[in-house]
Amino acid sequence: MKSESNPKKKGQKKFKCRNTNVILWRYFTFFAVGIIFVVAVVCYSVLGNSFMSQQIRRVKEIGGELTEVVDDDNIPELVKMSKINEYALYDSVTVFIISERGVILYPHMFAAPEKLGNLTEEVNSYMPEWDRGAVTEYTTGEGNGKTFNYVSCVKYDNLNAKLLVRYPISPLADSVRQTQLYVILISLGIIVAAFLISYSLAEKLSRPIRDLSQKVGKLAEGDFAVEFNSAEYTEVAKLSDTLNYMRDEIKKSDDFQKELLANVTHDLKTPLTMIKAYASMIQEISGDNPEKRNKHLGVIIDEADRLTGLVNDILITSKIRSGLGQLNKKVLNLTEFLYGIIAKFSYLQEAQGYNIMVDVDPNMYTLADEEKIGQVIYNLISNAVNYTGEDKTIYISLKYSAEDNRIKFAVRDTGKGIDEEEKKHIWERYYRSKDSHTRPVKGTGLGLNIVKIILDAHSFNFGVTSEEGKGSTFYVDFPAVSSIPDELEEKPE
Ligand code: ADP
Repeated sequence: MKSESNPKKKGQKKFKCRNTNVILWRYFTFFAVGIIFVVAVVCYSVLGNSFMSQQIRRVKEIGGELTEVVDDDNIPELVKMSKINEYALYDSVTVFIISERGVILYPHMFAAPEKLGNLTEEVNSYMPEWDRGAVTEYTTGEGNGKTFNYVSCVKYDNLNAKLLVRYPISPLADSVRQTQLYVILISLGIIVAAFLISYSLAEKLSRPIRDLSQKVGKLAEGDFAVEFNSAEYTEVAKLSDTLNYMRDEIKKSDDFQKELLANVTHDLKTPLTMIKAYASMIQEISGDNPEKRNKHLGVIIDEADRLTGLVNDILITSKIRSGLGQLNKKVLNLTEFLYGIIAKFSYLQEAQGYNIMVDVDPNMYTLADEEKIGQVIYNLISNAVNYTGEDKTIYISLKYSAEDNRIKFAVRDTGKGIDEEEKKHIWERYYRSKDSHTRPVKGTGLGLNIVKIILDAHSFNFGVTSEEGKGSTFYVDFPAVSSIPDELEEKPE
């Protein structure tokens, strides 16, 4: 037994998979690290390039402005010098003016010209021409000695000269490098934070799913008390609701099976015991006495009928419960259909003296599942036959009511009736009045429950009215519909 209830033992597919939180965590981390990496790389390169290009632009501006000042014959020498000094002081540029003959015209007081080495040669190699107004730019040196140079041809002191504005890039590169280091450190910090945050986020997202799967496991082991109440986010809340619904349905079906087993065992036992007892009696006592033997055989036949009825009702109940979703509705000539069912009871009139009084309107059409409605009518007439009074009379009517466009079906008997308290229970499964067990009435307590399930599924109005001592009337209101035109054509009026 245990091995069947354990879901892990039999027929279970083994899936090779990782925990949700590990997968989520991994994805979150990859995503965060990816984004930060891209941002860091972009910052790193943009920062360096834009900072440098900004500085170089500034040097070019200075070069342009100084060219205009130095080249202007109307500006006094002193003003030109102070302008050059101003830029050298505030913008950290070094300015030289070199004549065509290689003489350094500025700065005048240059103390150690040998330190400049081949400055004239260098400038001339990058800019050989001496055309006034020509401009060129170049960089020299590597690493810390890297400089940006702006050269323009000017007229200075009536001499052809070149103005050189030189700016060291290396100190600039240092500060950029420092900033880039900060970018890397901050990025690393953010990556660690993303790692931790994504872990807790993944944990938070997967927790309710793990919780649900744990509870489903309990449910699979038969624990119907389990409550699915994870509601951290909408999808899980909906899943919880669905699982609660599923649990209730499984429980109902489980209860039904247990109840069925208990009732069936009980109801089968009694007739079987009787059959065995009377068969033994025939074998041992009444075998040679035709009168007694026939009486005992009668009991055996009755009990066998009871068994057949019980088995049939159980089969019908489970069939109806499993197939109620698919009502096979069609237009049905209720009048003809009812006559067909009443005909099945004609043997009662002939053999047992029953009176079946019928008052039926012709050609009443309704829309219903023929097979299931047949079961309803059959069960109601059977009950009337079983429970009617000494006069053995039952009244069956089928009448059209124009007021609500309904076809009113009713079965009346003359039995002892049903009291108000009993009326509440007769539609329940396996309900049988205490009296019915003492009377020789074949019954299972399933008949009216089958009626209720079928009529509820059709949404038809039905019920019972009863007067104690005078009998009961069970009724069903069928919706009236017009017949199918094709059918009418086939049947000449
Ligand atoms: P059963 O197989 O016992 O007839 P039903 O579900 O058909 O089972 O009926 C349930 C109970 O309702 C019966 O045991 C009986 O007490 C009561 N009942 C049903 N029909 C009638 C009736 N026509 N008159 C009186 N009591 C009835």
